[in-house]
Amino acid sequence: MNHLVVANWKMHMTGTQASAFLDDFLARVLPDDVDVAIAPPFTAIARVGDRLRGGAIALAAQDVFWEQSGAYTGEVSPPMLTDAGCTYVIVGHSERRQYFGETDETVNRKARAALANGLTPIVCVGESGAERDAGEALARVVAQTRASLDGLGRDGVARVVMAYEPLWAIGTGKNCDADDADATMCAMRASVDGLRDARILYGGSMKAENVAAYARKPNIDGGLVGGASLDPAGFAALILAARQGMR
Ligand code: PEP
Repeated sequence: MNHLVVANWKMHMTGTQASAFLDDFLARVLPDDVDVAIAPPFTAIARVGDRLRGGAIALAAQDVFWEQSGAYTGEVSPPMLTDAGCTYVIVGHSERRQYFGETDETVNRKARAALANGLTPIVCVGESGAERDAGEALARVVAQTRASLDGLGRDGVARVVMAYEPLWAIGTGKNCDADDADATMCAMRASVDGLRDARILYGGSMKAENVAAYARKPNIDGGLVGGASLDPAGFAALILAARQGMR
């Protein structure tokens, strides 16, 4: 399976800015054996989806609700995402867990709903700095992984993309050592039946200068990229560097 690099634009990019990004980014030559997805904010998703339709770059959403439709003001359903052209959806990003009360249970409901609607969930897990300092990182990540994937079954688990994102590395410039990340992801694979066949991404201050070190590790299948995905030249350079480093 190809490596996968996902741009998480978070709450950045108006529709106009997204169009300008794509004018530049889509003109660049990218390797055809690295899968790429872009997750814009909801307000830009239709515009970005229209530009990506029929091309090699996939559209992702940053979140989803688990119901198909109904009186859930402010929420977006899986069929709305597939209609917009999404094939991936990020669920359980640490910022959603931290600021918006997401729990392993809600992440699990979202992952199930995504799969049931033909979307690939990108399920995020990761320990805090305090948990790492207390020697609890591995236990925390394995517990989150098991709870988030509960009841998906072997086939469902194999269709998920996991993202290991240590909280202390997100947006801080302090990326996790690639050997440490690989060891954690190896433990994740062993913790749930089916995860050996799934892709697991690293996320946390990934950039063009450090991506190759991750890409060559046996348990790391790409990256979930925040800050370094906002500049088209920098993001393209990161994808090329990932290709160089691929095992
Ligand atoms: C993220 O938002 O998932 C992320 C990894 O952010 P950054 O690359 O900015 O650390």
